[in-house]
Amino acid sequence: MLAIITMPFPPLGAIFATAAAVTAGIALISHLLAKAGGADVSWFSMGLEALGAIPGMASRQSSGTSPESATTSRVPYAARLYPSPSSEAVGFITVALYRLVRVDVAGCLGCDLLAGRHELPGGILHETAAWVVNHVVGPLNLGTLIVGPREHVVAIAELDDTAAAELGPLLRDTARVVETLCRPEQTYVCMWSHGRDARKHLHIAVQPVTAEVRARYGGLRSEQLQARMLADGDEPDIAEVEQFCEQARELFREIARSSAEDRS
Ligand SMILES: [Zn+2]
Repeated sequence: MLAIITMPFPPLGAIFATAAAVTAGIALISHLLAKAGGADVSWFSMGLEALGAIPGMASRQSSGTSPESATTSRVPYAARLYPSPSSEAVGFITVALYRLVRVDVAGCLGCDLLAGRHELPGGILHETAAWVVNHVVGPLNLGTLIVGPREHVVAIAELDDTAAAELGPLLRDTARVVETLCRPEQTYVCMWSHGRDARKHLHIAVQPVTAEVRARYGGLRSEQLQARMLADGDEPDIAEVEQFCEQARELFREIARSSAEDRS
């Protein structure tokens, strides 16, 4: 989860600024449609989008200087549309536009894994509206799962309401899955997503640390243990990852089934 995302982000600031302007234009159109259908979208936020749709304004509006922040500043506005389409026709168009607005950044490991551009041993284990869970790709111990947003979101502060509401229960369920399968001394939950030059696609590690894992790394714990793992670079065996993922997927299904029964 730290050194695993090491692909350099392409220095294409101008292209991203243009893409942000186009994206803002699409978000504006989709909000106008949603407003026509009675959705609660303020004229103020649409005014901001109109500003973003003017070439040159998109990058100036963004607080950061990285191409990523210029692009992704549009996502939270679009994401708010998803849960509240007020009529079927408007809802259909809104969802289609929302998917069009979804930012997919080639060269970002989080996006590449979801888009199938990068191999993902074990596949996707569990999904919610805003989040996806998979086994870590990189030098952390077997059983470490990654909870990441479906969107290319690079800051917790930018999560929309749906993503924020889902996160607590999802972290608990993911921790329950790894605790059931690994019986760790403790399950770590942490996130850095901090690249050399820019923020990275969020990825929250849910890491079961057993006595056996600690023994393998000289009894270390916490961030010192993680630093040693990343420095050593030993990745778990792919066949073992796939086997673990089969069991984890089934446990997530059981959790989903039992919470559906609780609701009914
Ligand atoms: Zn991404």
